[in-house]
Amino acid sequence: MPKNTDAHELHRAVLEAQLDGLLYLDSGGFIRYANAAAGLLLDSSAADLVGTTFEYPLHNTERTELEITLKDQEKRILEARVSGSENGLEGHVLVQLRDISDLRQSNLIHHTFYDHLTDLPNRMLFKDRLKLELFHSQRSRKLVAVVVLNINRFKSINEALGYTLGDRILQLVASRLRETFRRSDTVARIGSDEFGLVLPGLNKAEDCSRLASKIITAFEEVCTVDRHELYLSVCLGIALHPDDGTTVDTLLKNAGTALDRARQQGRNTFQLYSEANQTLAYERVELERQLCKAMDNEEFEVYYQPQISLVDHRILGGEALLRWNSIGSGLVPAYHFITLAEETGLIQPIGDWVVRTVCRQIALWEKLTDRPFCITVNISPLQFSRDGFVDNLIALIKECGLDTSHLGLEITEHLLMKDVSVAVRDLRRLKELGISISIDDFGTGYSSLSYLRKFPIDVLKIDQSFVREVTVNQNDAEIASAIVTMAKALNLTVIAEGVESREQLEFFQRLGCDGVQGYLFSRAIPVTEFSTFLTDPNIFAAKAC
Ligand code: C2E
Ligand code: CA
Ligand code: CA
Repeated sequence: MPKNTDAHELHRAVLEAQLDGLLYLDSGGFIRYANAAAGLLLDSSAADLVGTTFEYPLHNTERTELEITLKDQEKRILEARVSGSENGLEGHVLVQLRDISDLRQSNLIHHTFYDHLTDLPNRMLFKDRLKLELFHSQRSRKLVAVVVLNINRFKSINEALGYTLGDRILQLVASRLRETFRRSDTVARIGSDEFGLVLPGLNKAEDCSRLASKIITAFEEVCTVDRHELYLSVCLGIALHPDDGTTVDTLLKNAGTALDRARQQGRNTFQLYSEANQTLAYERVELERQLCKAMDNEEFEVYYQPQISLVDHRILGGEALLRWNSIGSGLVPAYHFITLAEETGLIQPIGDWVVRTVCRQIALWEKLTDRPFCITVNISPLQFSRDGFVDNLIALIKECGLDTSHLGLEITEHLLMKDVSVAVRDLRRLKELGISISIDDFGTGYSSLSYLRKFPIDVLKIDQSFVREVTVNQNDAEIASAIVTMAKALNLTVIAEGVESREQLEFFQRLGCDGVQGYLFSRAIPVTEFSTFLTDPNIFAAKAC
């Protein structure tokens, strides 16, 4: 135990070390004690303070804020907490001081830029954020969507149910919007019942429709506000940067014009400023709606496009290509809807269906011919990266009783760039089973052939974009030739895609390419027609000569 004086010293040391200022005032308001921090906060020294009166009003309250003007005229806001002194002397108080100037300053900023009801950015901050995004998008070359959103009939709800409830509705809308979007998107309250969104990073105008549907869906559920069940509906106006304007004000104005059009259309709808973009966006919504139903309606069909050997002009096999027999639009080729299926996640059930259909078909063709053939299926990176993809495929192969040499998978380079160790492991498992792996659209990605060596692959498919002008464009011809040479060195099979003319065929023949696929020989065709190709190996020989 320290002696009494030691305890006193210790006590004093502790008080001195406090970051908060401490003052001990007697009943006359004289400062009896001040620690060093109090001296600093009051722009004086502790020694000078002692014996003076504390000139600021403490109002006998527990907590008060004092505004101090420093010698250099700078202002400082101190929080003072007043408590009775421990020694119980009547009128003696202990005052604890803390500098809260920064906090007040940031509160002030918060007040200036945020809406107090919803805590969302206000119009001023919204415009500032938009300006910043416009600046960024010049580099990224992506589109920025400016969305203005209005709650339908808000004024009548407000009048009928009262302003308190109106406020609650605005808060609810704010939180729904915030939940719907990422943190990097801006959701702001820019008018009394008007919200604004800045959504950067869009690739094309049609992408807006996905965002708009997302917002509209978020309001489809009933809202319960203070025991009232309400169906809220919203209208959206969208302007796109750079299509519909390049400045903050123009974009806001045009989004507002689009909003007016949406309002005239009725509830739960959106309008883009530009008519052309609006048409695209609506088409997309319509396509998405139809695609969702296509699986159930059994509107899909697999077509097959033959691949022909350049050595003996026999059929090597074919590529399975998905077709959609849409009730509304007729036969739709894959390039029209595969991206949409990927963006909406529909590629999973659709892709599963394709793999299953192809495996069953191969099993049937095995009964028809003894000659070797390989049917390749396109696998989207999304399908491949799903857990259990390889296991499911193996189970399916067993179920159909397939000879795995008849099945190949086409994947793109992008897949190999993503999660390398997982990709290598999965591809090895497939290869061990006897399934061949083709790299599709080769040359469009960034992987070098030496990079590809890490992966157990069998076939390279030279992308159509190099084939198209191979006979007239020296550059393309050189690339194609380099790919064939290097692929040979690595012992890979090379197939040229999209061969449409005899000149192109002869070019690849001269290079020593292994096979071709393209309209010159055949488009993708239905199962029955392809069956005749498989059983008549010489069918293409005449065409090639
Ligand atoms: P891809 O794998 O590069 O397929 C080749 C595309 O080029 C096919 O279009 C085919 O019809 C077309 N094509 C073939 N020969 C020629 C030619 O000589 N000239 C021209 N101009 N085009 C030719 P399609 O069927 O519309 O497929 C587009 C893309 O959709 C495919 O590109 C593939 O990435 C994807 N895809 C197709 N079916 C499936 C599928 O079942 N699953 C997945 N995940 N993707 C698929
Ligand atoms: Ca392909
Ligand atoms: Ca391709």
